[in-house]
Amino acid sequence: MRRIEVKASRDYAVEIGPGLLDRAGELLRPLSGAGTAVIVTGEHVAALYAPRLRASLERAGFRVLQWTHPSGEAYKTLETYGALLSFLAREGVGRNDLLLALGGGVTGDLTGFAAATYQRGVDYAQVPTSLLAMVDSSVGGKTAVDLPEGKNLAGSFYQPLAVLCDPELLETLPEEELRNGSAEVLKYAVLGDPALFELLTKDPSCVRTERAIARCIEMKRDLVGEDEFDRGSRQLLNLGHSFGHAIEACSEYRLRHGEAVAIGMAAVARAATQMGILPTADRDALLSALARLGLPDRTEISAECLLQQIRRDKKRRGETISLIVPERIGACRILQVPLAEIPTWLRLGGIA
Ligand code: NAD
Repeated sequence: MRRIEVKASRDYAVEIGPGLLDRAGELLRPLSGAGTAVIVTGEHVAALYAPRLRASLERAGFRVLQWTHPSGEAYKTLETYGALLSFLAREGVGRNDLLLALGGGVTGDLTGFAAATYQRGVDYAQVPTSLLAMVDSSVGGKTAVDLPEGKNLAGSFYQPLAVLCDPELLETLPEEELRNGSAEVLKYAVLGDPALFELLTKDPSCVRTERAIARCIEMKRDLVGEDEFDRGSRQLLNLGHSFGHAIEACSEYRLRHGEAVAIGMAAVARAATQMGILPTADRDALLSALARLGLPDRTEISAECLLQQIRRDKKRRGETISLIVPERIGACRILQVPLAEIPTWLRLGGIA
C-alpha cells in the first residue's frame, strides 16, 4: 500500500494498492458525511466491478445509486453529461452527497465535470480502472467533455476528495488498453525519469506494477502542486498531446488517446532532432521504446486536418501554441511556437 499526498486547491491522497476496491467504503467514510454515494461507471466496467464497490460502500453505511453510461470516448459528450445531471436531480442527490467515478479516463473526466457543476459542486472520488486513468487522468483535477468541435473543450479544474488506485483491476484490462495506458507511462519517463525509461525498454510489462504507477503519480503530484491551473510547468504533461489531441479528433476517435499521444511524441521527437534540439540517439531510443510497447509512431492523417484541430486547441494563446519538446530522455522544455511554424514541425515530424 502506498499513499501519495497531492497539494492543490483541495489536498487529497492517492492510495495505491491491491484490494482497495473492497475497502473503498471504509476509506471514504471518514472523509465524507454523504448519505448517498452515486457510482458512475461505463457499461463494461459496471459488470466487472460495480457490485464489489457497491457492497463496500453499503458496508460503510452509504445509500448507493448507480448510473451507467455507454463505454467509449464517443460518449464523453454534453449529451451524456446532461443525462447524468438529470439523473442526479431526479434522484434527489444533494450537495453533501458523493459521486464515485469507477472506470477509465472517460468516466473520470465526465464524472469530475458533473461533480464540479451539479448544484455548483459536490464531492467526488476517483476509482480508476484503466492504466491510463491510474497513471494520469484520475489525478490532478482536470475534468471535461468533448464538443463536436474538439476534444475536452468544456470542463473545469476540480480536485477529487480521494483517488483509490487498485492495480489488481488491471487484470481484466484488454491488452490494447494496457498498451494505450503505457503511452502515458512512457511520457512520464521521457519527461523526467531516465530510470523508468530504462525499465520500460527492458521490460514493457513493468507498466502495470505498483512501482511504475506510483512513480507516474508522484511526478504528476509534483507538477500539479507547482501549477494546478496549467499556466506553467504542468503543461509539460502535454508532451505528445498538442499533436495527439488533434490526431485523436481527426481519426474521429478511432485511435485511442494513448495511441494518438504516442504518434504525437514520435512526431515532435523527429522534428526536434531535425531542429538540433534532441540528439539522434535519444530520438531513436524513444522510437524503439514505442515499438517495444507496441505503440504506433506514424499516421496517415493529413497535416491539413491536424492544423485545423490545433487552431482550436486550448493550449493556443493568440497566434502561438505551447509545444512540449524533448531535449533528451528525461528532460523536456515548453516552447511557444507560432501557429505559422506548425506546418514545418508537422513536416519534420513525418506528417505530410
Ligand atoms: P476509457 O475510459 O474509454 O477506457 C478504455 C476502455 O477500457 C473502455 O472500453 C473501458 O470500458 C475499458 N476498461 C477500463 N477499465 C477496465 C478494466 N479494469 N477491465 C476491463 N475493461 C476496462 O479510456 P482511457 O484510456 O481510460 O481514458 C481516455 C480518456 O482520458 C480520454 O478521454 C482522455 O481525454 C482522458 N484523459 C484525461 C486526463 C486528465 O487529466 N483528466 C489525462 C489523460 C487522459
